Amino acid sequence: MNLILFGPPAAGKGTQAKRLVDTRKMVQLSTGDMLRAAIASGSDLGQRVSGIMERGELVSDAIVIELIAERLPEAEAAGGAIFDGFPRTLAQAEALDRMLTARGSRIDLVVRLKVDDQALMARVAGRFAQSGRPDDNPESFKVRLSAYNAQTAPLLPYYVDQKKLVEVDGMGSVDAVAAAINAALAGPRG
Ligand code: AMP
Repeated sequence: MNLILFGPPAAGKGTQAKRLVDTRKMVQLSTGDMLRAAIASGSDLGQRVSGIMERGELVSDAIVIELIAERLPEAEAAGGAIFDGFPRTLAQAEALDRMLTARGSRIDLVVRLKVDDQALMARVAGRFAQSGRPDDNPESFKVRLSAYNAQTAPLLPYYVDQKKLVEVDGMGSVDAVAAAINAALAGPRG
């Protein structure tokens, strides 16, 4: 079972992915976490992406596709992947489909966490100081949100056409959202 958690920055994708890892035999594949690990390690890749990430812009498709490709065998062995923050562009979504097809696998479900921009800004405003992430500040967050709206949200029709998209209200408590995701996973496509 392969699942995509889809939604704007700070919608709760990472939190919900971790809940699913705890309750199901699946691996969380977060390109954001992989890139932050690359930065922390001081690698060439980390040095190339740190400025882009700090500004809130998207790194190149080739970089994140490669990071995901490296981790697919491990996720497959574990019983499936929860894609968190990937794909973010149509090119990434198409590459993911190609890579999974080549492995005799596929995306089973795309769960969209629905949270509107105004509510998101209000929700994260108080957290910037504590987060410790260099891209968690009002300026970068605005860029991340516009990257989502301009480059990532247009992917939704791709998954609607594949009849894989389910929508979940992302504004409730962590428990309420987790329950809604579990209900979606138990549904006809889950
Ligand atoms: P995230 O932790 O998912 O919010 O990602 C943090 C940052 O990493 C993003 O603002 C981008 O700069 C970069 N990033 C993570 N995943 C991707 C992706 N799939 N495509 C392009 N950039 C990404």
